[in-house]
Amino acid sequence: AGDALTADMIDEMAYKHFPACMRNLHMCLRRDKHLKHFGRLQYGLFLKVLGLSIDEALVFWRKAFSKIQDDKFNKEYRYNIRHSYGLEGKRANYAAKSCQQILMSDQPGPGDSHGCPYRHFSADNLQSALLTMYGEHGLTSADMPEIMATVKAGHYHVACTRVFEITHARQGVKKGEGVGGGESVTHPNQYAARSRELEK
Ligand code: SF4
Repeated sequence: AGDALTADMIDEMAYKHFPACMRNLHMCLRRDKHLKHFGRLQYGLFLKVLGLSIDEALVFWRKAFSKIQDDKFNKEYRYNIRHSYGLEGKRANYAAKSCQQILMSDQPGPGDSHGCPYRHFSADNLQSALLTMYGEHGLTSADMPEIMATVKAGHYHVACTRVFEITHARQGVKKGEGVGGGESVTHPNQYAARSRELEK
C-alpha cells in the first residue's frame, strides 16, 4: 500500500503525530542511541501497530543503536525484535500497550524512559517536556495551568487528550472533541492514528 511506513519516516512521524509517551521514547532513543528493556518493548510494539514491518523495524533499531556493533545487535536485540513480531518463541501476536497498561504496570525507575509522562514525570519536567515537544504545534505556557491541574487531579489521559486538541487546533479540532466524537485518549496508537488522519 502507499501507506507503507519505513524506518526513515519515523523521525518526522514522531514529531508530527506521537503522544508524549512515544515522543519521549523517541527523543531518548535519539539522545542515548539506546533504550532499556521496557522502553524498547513499549516503543517497539507501538511502532509495529503503527505499521512498521519487521524488516523496517530491524533497520530502524539497528541504525538507532548506533554505538554498538552488528554482532552485539544480532545477539542481544534482533531476537527480541523478531519475537515482538511473533516470529520467534511461542509466536504470539503481541498487542501494543494501552494507556491503562502504561499507567499501571512496570513503573519506570531511574534511567528508564518508558511510562506515561503525564503520570511519571515531575511537574516541572512535564511542563518543559510538553513545551519542547509541542511548542511548534501550538502549545503555549498559557495552556499549562489547565493541563497541570488535570494532571494533579490524576486525570492523565484527560490531560493528554487536551494536549491533542490544542496541538490539532490548526486542523480544526475544538475543545471537547478529543480524538473524535468527544472520545478521550485511551491508546497511544489511537492518538497517532487520529493525528495522521487529520493531516490528510
Ligand atoms: Fe501515552 Fe496514554 Fe500517557 Fe497519552 S495518556 S502520554 S497516549 S500513555
